[in-house]
Amino acid sequence: DQEVAEYQKSLAIRVSGFDVPKPIKLFEDCGFPTTLLNAISKQGYEKPTPIQCQALPIVLSGRDVIGIAKTGSGKTAAFILPMIVHIMDQPELAKEEGPIGVICAPTRELAHQIYLEAKKFAKSHGIRVSAVYGGMSKLDQFKELKAGCDIVVATPGRLIDMLKMKALTMLRATYLVLDEADRMFDLGFEPQIRSIVGQIRPDRQTLLFSATMPYKVERLAREIISDPIRVTVGEVG
Ligand code: ADP
Ligand code: MG
Repeated sequence: DQEVAEYQKSLAIRVSGFDVPKPIKLFEDCGFPTTLLNAISKQGYEKPTPIQCQALPIVLSGRDVIGIAKTGSGKTAAFILPMIVHIMDQPELAKEEGPIGVICAPTRELAHQIYLEAKKFAKSHGIRVSAVYGGMSKLDQFKELKAGCDIVVATPGRLIDMLKMKALTMLRATYLVLDEADRMFDLGFEPQIRSIVGQIRPDRQTLLFSATMPYKVERLAREIISDPIRVTVGEVG
């Protein structure tokens, strides 16, 4: 309606797709458990950024999202917070069954940053986060993954290595995030991304974030994402 349209306009949000959930104004509008709201305020996050206002209710509704917003706009929390809720909603399963949330990022620095942010929100919920990227001992990573995790944050190449070594399986994975998809393509990770996506059940929830949407990324998005809602913030894309 008119009020929603004006609110979106005031935040420079554009959306496309059917049945788009309304943007929220406060983290309290998300229906988060108190433990998560406390973790959010502990981070010093007073209110959601524009991409969070629109993406959080969509992701929480279980829909796939293509999110396009510039660096520094708060995309990480837009996919981490609903991931915590998604994991808390799962029935208890044996730890051997692998991560529920899988996040791919282009570089070890980015993977590490996401890992740190995920840990801040996961910790108070007993959710285990592992990071998998080059430059760390493969044996140590193998052992850590074997011990079990709920969220894995990875660069595509190293995640493929770990899957080949059977350090983890994707049997339990139902929430996939491709972060900075355009940079992953620039770095030549398209085959690895396709391989990882192909190992995750098709009824998963898939989120793709990117600062730009070149044709190659758009083509992949169309193949691997179902009925997405596209959220664009600001003058990007
Ligand atoms: P992006 O992935 O879009 O580049 P990040 O998720 O890395 O952005 O967030 C950029 C910075 O903003 C980080 O330092 C993060 O902690 C901070 N941040 C994220 N969400 C909020 C919020 N709601 N309020 C205040 N700071 C936030
Ligand atoms: Mg980011």
